[in-house]
Amino acid sequence: MPHPILCVGSVALDTIETPFGKARDALGGSATYFSYSASLLSPVRLVAVVGADFPREHVEVLRKRKVDLSGLQVAAGGRTFRWQGKFGENLNEAITLRTDLNVFETFRPHIPEKFRDSPIVFLANIDPELQMEVLSQVRRPKLVLCDTMNLWIEIKLGALRKLLRKVDVLTINEGEARLLTGKLNLAACARDILKMGPGRVVIKRGEYGATMFTRSEFFALPAYPLEEIRDPTGAGDTFAGGLVGDLARNGRFGEDAFRRAMIRGSVHASFIVEDFSLQGLRRAGPAARARRYRDFLCFTSVGGRLR
Ligand code: AMP
Repeated sequence: MPHPILCVGSVALDTIETPFGKARDALGGSATYFSYSASLLSPVRLVAVVGADFPREHVEVLRKRKVDLSGLQVAAGGRTFRWQGKFGENLNEAITLRTDLNVFETFRPHIPEKFRDSPIVFLANIDPELQMEVLSQVRRPKLVLCDTMNLWIEIKLGALRKLLRKVDVLTINEGEARLLTGKLNLAACARDILKMGPGRVVIKRGEYGATMFTRSEFFALPAYPLEEIRDPTGAGDTFAGGLVGDLARNGRFGEDAFRRAMIRGSVHASFIVEDFSLQGLRRAGPAARARRYRDFLCFTSVGGRLR
């Protein structure tokens, strides 16, 4: 039986520029990418807020994936969170041009009673004070994971550190891990993060893949070798969605389960970066996803040609 996942985070309208094109007010947000990706594997319960200006067809994208939207608040008269970003030649790092919190300025997450016993909780990137409010409303989850970003490390470090004491797994990208710890070397960053609370940290490294540390284990995966990347926005959240969705589907949280789940996360992320917004992953059917999963097994073994 797959475990349901409770996810809180941003649902956004993104305006993005990359060397390969532009998108204006496209469907985005940390919770959107996460939920879509995780829902391909396990049931997802979403808690977030949008404004009255949020297009109905965007809600339908998640509804069609059977994401439980009973925790999605619509703030009458408010404007949806907007993020404007760009990628230069370094596709591994987003440059934030503008963040309009809008409805997130007054948002108080309310977890519907039927979501409070969710066994898995993913706190996608939003204000760490809001992430903490969510945690205080759930009852004894089996696994709590969270993500964050440079903005919160810079302006809400105290709240973020308090939160980290309460989570099992942190997913974070390379630049943010360095910012959080003040260290350059990734193994040193991981060691410091593990001292802050989480027993496991997954560091996302864009085209260089992802690495995972616990106090006693280390695991690394390459990224899928793509020749065409159009928009890396959402890769991190989509990776997390595949990772957590896979863990939830199997209901096991040991080292091997995490390693397999990292492959699933990498497969989903490989589709999302091929096009703007959610389009790349929406187009990929089960057969295409399964093929890339097998490719990963092949890329990471010696002597095992799978096809
Ligand atoms: P990533 O997976 O790291 O590429 O995250 C991309 C998503 O993060 C975008 O769709 C944005 O809408 C969202 N985002 C950017 N800044 C923030 C923020 N300060 N709080 C919440 N979500 C954000």
